[in-house]
Amino acid sequence: MRKKIVVMKTKLLDARISGAGSLKQQQEAQQRAEQAVAVAAEILQSGGLVAFPTETVYGLGGDALNPQAAKAIYAAKGRPSDNPLIVHIADEAQLALLTERVPEAAQRLMQAFWPGPLTMIFEKKAQVPESTTGGLSTVAVRMPDDAATLALIRRSGKCLAGPSANRSGGPSPTSWEHVLRDLDGRIDAILQGEDCRVGIESTVLDMTGQVPVILRPGWITPEQIAEVTGGKVEMDPALFVNRPRDVSDHSPPPKAPGMKYKHYAPKAEMVVLQGSVAAVRRGAQALVREKEAEGRRAVALLFSDGDPKETARTLFAQLRRCDEEGIEFIAAGAVQGSDSIGFAVMNRMLKSAGYQVLQVADDGSFLK
Ligand code: AMP
Ligand code: MG
Repeated sequence: MRKKIVVMKTKLLDARISGAGSLKQQQEAQQRAEQAVAVAAEILQSGGLVAFPTETVYGLGGDALNPQAAKAIYAAKGRPSDNPLIVHIADEAQLALLTERVPEAAQRLMQAFWPGPLTMIFEKKAQVPESTTGGLSTVAVRMPDDAATLALIRRSGKCLAGPSANRSGGPSPTSWEHVLRDLDGRIDAILQGEDCRVGIESTVLDMTGQVPVILRPGWITPEQIAEVTGGKVEMDPALFVNRPRDVSDHSPPPKAPGMKYKHYAPKAEMVVLQGSVAAVRRGAQALVREKEAEGRRAVALLFSDGDPKETARTLFAQLRRCDEEGIEFIAAGAVQGSDSIGFAVMNRMLKSAGYQVLQVADDGSFLK
């Protein structure tokens, strides 16, 4: 007897409203978006999984207070179960479902940056399942800045556990097409929005101690945080350890469990080149020629002179394009300068490259 194979089909729910032409077209887009949000909300209420747009990267949503939904997220992503999920809310009132204590500094940060790319970590309430928090007694929370996703959270009445909507280990998704490519058939639906305008994941800030500590650098910088709290902000020392972790590593592990894993990596071997703009260009071209001479498909990825914001927005999409085109070697230009957004982008780029870095001198030669 032939076995019946059940293929789960991922629904595409169109919530895009910008770019519509006439008033009639705009109204139609609005109605379509409302319908999309309604269908997505029902899926979430019944314990299903819906990917959703945000300003940072696309998230993979499930009911954060339903342990089965949280487990399904880990399974769909292939994510290690000790790597906790960020919980997305649409109203500050939802915080009361997740935590009992919100420090005053956190309240001020919410006022300043929510909705926006800042995640804060609090002591969790008992009702937040450990399958959402990766076994930790704390919970990470943020309010994403996307109208359709905020509408979805409100309509579903759920807090949404939402890691990045990609297969674990690869580059994060910054468009709904990226999500479809990674998770088609593994999740119930994708709420289609625009491409992400920030392009890297949120800043993760631990608010459970005396001093706020940045566990993952992002678009919201330590300087901006300090300006709002009027106090000190620390960085997790593990952020400055630029090498892969292995069993022989005795330095303190990162406080965000996810930061210790292989991350953001394209299929190609990748090297990051540091030096002046001209030197990096010359060095990258030389490397590409060398790899091509060995018969490998190689490209130079140079991000508009290393501007950190532009690099943040396009980095993951570029890495995914390399994968699609079967590229085997990437020579990537580092972000220029050393501001805090540049630091956040370099954190992603160095992980993508497995911390392989080459310094290039102005004459184009490589320094060790
Ligand atoms: P992603 O889901 O891909 O955006 O990654 C979320 C990041 O936040 C990972 O690095 C997690 O380890 C980190 N994170 C989430 N919740 C917590 C928590 N309660 N304590 C520390 N780190 C957390
Ligand atoms: Mg991720």
